Amino acid sequence: MHCHLDLYPEPFKVAEECKRRGTYVLSVTTTPKAWEGTCRLSKDSQRIRTALGLHPQIAHQRYQELELFDALLPEAKYVGEIGLDGGSGFKNHWDVQLKVFRHILNAVNHAGGRIMSIHSRASAAAVLDELKGIDGTPVLHWFTGTKSQLKRAIDIGCWFSVGPAMLNTKKGVELVSIIPRDRILTETDGPFAKHRGNMLMPWESDIAVNILSEIWNQSIEQTHADLRDNFRSITSG
Ligand code: MN
Repeated sequence: MHCHLDLYPEPFKVAEECKRRGTYVLSVTTTPKAWEGTCRLSKDSQRIRTALGLHPQIAHQRYQELELFDALLPEAKYVGEIGLDGGSGFKNHWDVQLKVFRHILNAVNHAGGRIMSIHSRASAAAVLDELKGIDGTPVLHWFTGTKSQLKRAIDIGCWFSVGPAMLNTKKGVELVSIIPRDRILTETDGPFAKHRGNMLMPWESDIAVNILSEIWNQSIEQTHADLRDNFRSITSG
């Protein structure tokens, strides 16, 4: 549910391998200008879907692309990566991040809602505030907020995409144990996220499936089946 296919060193090769393996990929973008080129990676594959995004970490450099965002939104079925980042190095651009995020949520709301892959690093409370009254399906990717923020997110109907990097931390496992099983999907956040020092490939979301099967205390097959049900549920909703 969250991978930067266009940012791998050899994106076409990675996309080909996804097609060969039958991997489902939500291929998120970080700027509206990347939309067209990234869509090319999903050619000939129903299982790779491109999401239109504007990443909060570069919002201050790319806010001029909001006009392009608006122009492309009618043809985009998925939106992401969007959100807020209150972490060091980004907090100083908070005002422009907030403007960009609000603009996008407003546009999505007017367009009748979208599945949205959302970044909420050090900003979960603010992200949840902004989601109020917005039509669409928010998927919080790699959630790192507090337990009470997590409970609030669950209460307002958020979904969660979890990957190997999140599940490799004690806190990540603790949070995932609280999330209802029918709101969880897998991701990798490759090539940014790493596992044992290597950049994660899209199909390595399987590592997350293995860890989830331990947390849920059930077979890997059952976990795959549950996640497939969740995937069907979110994409048909
Ligand atoms: Mn990402």
